[in-house]
Amino acid sequence: MHILKCAECKSYGLKETCDCGSKRVRVKPAKYSPEDKYAVYRRKAKENVGNQDL
Ligand SMILES: [Zn+2]
Repeated sequence: MHILKCAECKSYGLKETCDCGSKRVRVKPAKYSPEDKYAVYRRKAKENVGNQDL
């Protein structure tokens, strides 16, 4: 399965033709940025701290 993105209205979807009438083009799946990675890490760390408090 691949995701298509409309160049006109920037909407994403699986249909090649966008609701706005333009053609959607295939986009690569977004890679996790270091910031996202750290955000998850932070969230997990927070959960661990919460468990310790219990
Ligand atoms: Zn569109």
